[in-house]
Amino acid sequence: MDKIWTEMYKAAIAVKNKRKISEYVTCGGVSAAILSKSGKIYTGVCIDTSSTLGICAERNAIFNMITNGEHEIDKVLCVMSNGSNGTPCGACRELMVQLMPNGKYKDIEIMLDYTSGRTVRLGEITPLWWIK
Ligand SMILES: [Zn+2]
Repeated sequence: MDKIWTEMYKAAIAVKNKRKISEYVTCGGVSAAILSKSGKIYTGVCIDTSSTLGICAERNAIFNMITNGEHEIDKVLCVMSNGSNGTPCGACRELMVQLMPNGKYKDIEIMLDYTSGRTVRLGEITPLWWIK
């Protein structure tokens, strides 16, 4: 397994900190690390609110990347509440496709199982985009 996955895993674990912020907001149960095309790692945590104002860890990490001037994704790693890895939800996949249209999104590599190093390409789990 490429050592960048280890760096991404460590970065995601470093921000994973499940906590209650207020009576209406919890966060940090899920964390994500995004590797941009430039080679920088951006992290994010899930934010859950009682009125759907929250965000997935993946999109939070992607917005962190965009905030820092980048928009092309190379790899995605997510650490779920139970410590396993998860694939991005439909909303996160849609954002990645819209950020990198014309088939470029298909090469984004997603960690399915950090223990075994099993990955999948976004194109394999999102083969047909609704706009095309
Ligand atoms: Zn999501």
